[in-house]
Amino acid sequence: MRILITGSGVAGSIIAAGLTALAGVRVDVLERVAPSDHLTVGNGLNIGPNAVVALRACLPALAAALERNALPWRAWRAADIGGEPWWHLPLSEVADADGLRIRWSDLYRVCRAAAGAAVSYGSEVTDACLEEAGVAVEVGGSARPTRVGADLLVLADGRFSSLRGRLCGPTTPRQLGVANFRILLDDHGARVIDDLEQWYHGPNRLLAFRLRDGRIYLSGNLPLAPDAPIPDEMRTADYLAAAYLPTDRRVAPAPAWLVAAVCGRAAHLHWSRAQEIDACYSAGDGRVVLVGDAAHAMAPTLGQGATQAIEDACVFVNLFRVMHAQGAFTPRRFARLFEAMRRPRVETARQLSWSATESLLAGADVPALVRRKGGSDWRAGFARLYREAPLPVHSEACVGG
Ligand SMILES: Cc1cc2nc3c(=O)[nH]c(=O)nc-3n(C[C@H](O)[C@H](O)[C@H](O)COP(=O)(O)OP(=O)(O)OC[C@H]3O[C@@H](n4cnc5c(N)ncnc54)[C@H](O)[C@@H]3O)c2cc1C
Repeated sequence: MRILITGSGVAGSIIAAGLTALAGVRVDVLERVAPSDHLTVGNGLNIGPNAVVALRACLPALAAALERNALPWRAWRAADIGGEPWWHLPLSEVADADGLRIRWSDLYRVCRAAAGAAVSYGSEVTDACLEEAGVAVEVGGSARPTRVGADLLVLADGRFSSLRGRLCGPTTPRQLGVANFRILLDDHGARVIDDLEQWYHGPNRLLAFRLRDGRIYLSGNLPLAPDAPIPDEMRTADYLAAAYLPTDRRVAPAPAWLVAAVCGRAAHLHWSRAQEIDACYSAGDGRVVLVGDAAHAMAPTLGQGATQAIEDACVFVNLFRVMHAQGAFTPRRFARLFEAMRRPRVETARQLSWSATESLLAGADVPALVRRKGGSDWRAGFARLYREAPLPVHSEACVGG
């Protein structure tokens, strides 16, 4: 059996790492960037405890490698920009493991190393089509495209997947009405910023945490009219200073330093808009399976995008291993079981991420919405998200399916 994976990002690399050793299975990952392209990617991200639990159970060596390259994420804190605490959640109260704080570049490097020689870099997939007994993709653009055939195509090419449109029909992203900027800052260890903290001035939010290399990852959110582009004015130091610094009251030292640092580097911020798409898990009667952002890009508010991509990959690997061991694999059956296992779980994460975004919208009653996250409803939601991580399936699940 030949499996083709488009994209050696989070989900694609982990699936390749989990399947390469299986007898009778050839796995090829086609990745458009060069091996060195993401090695210096700035920015960090927080990965939820649920992904850590799922990965430890599925690929323990890879989980350990990621943990070695990260710092533990143990708490959420939120405060007013003046420093008045609004909410504090030690993750140990709602999770069975720590989450991770990791640099993008380290996440990609470790996952791609685990996928090893299965990855062909500099191989952009430019087209894909269904064939009578499988799928075929075109690699390499217009100069001398190569056609590659496979029994199963896994779309793991991220939230701007062009192949999803080609194979599953058009996708219209829903804009949430939130602009986001990101940057890495170096305070040479001088500030009291460590685990994940957020500061609000109205719906304008700063989120920061320290990374393993000592730098601080900072992400900022500002309300935006849904479907409007990010205006040039918003990208300026004057706009950012006015958005985060009230003139009539004191600003706490940590956010004051973050805003000053951001204003000094306004031209270097990475901007994006928070958006989500409808979930789609398969096409072509199971010959195409979608994972990660290509399947279900969601609002980044709770840090569940890469987290759910890791969960997807673990479920994919576990299910495939069991069906392969039983000699029971058919694309249609695999796709049906995979979707049944993932759809409700991903929908829980999507809904919570969407609800958590309310405090970032124009006109929101921010203190009330943020404080509410300390209440029993939100705690139950976090516990569901973090504690109900998918664990390896047993063979009966497939026989019964
Ligand atoms: C502002 C922001 C902040 C975020 N913060 C967090 C966070 O803190 N925690 C979290 O869990 N998630 C976060 N996310 C979400 C996270 O970035 C994604 O959910 C995650 O990267 C999805 O993984 P993936 O494997 O599906 O795709 P990706 O990691 O995007 O990988 C896709 C891969 O496919 C390759 N590719 C694309 N097209 C082709 C093609 N045609 N041919 C070949 N290769 C191709 C790309 O080069 C890439 O390597 C954030 C997202 C945003 C926008």
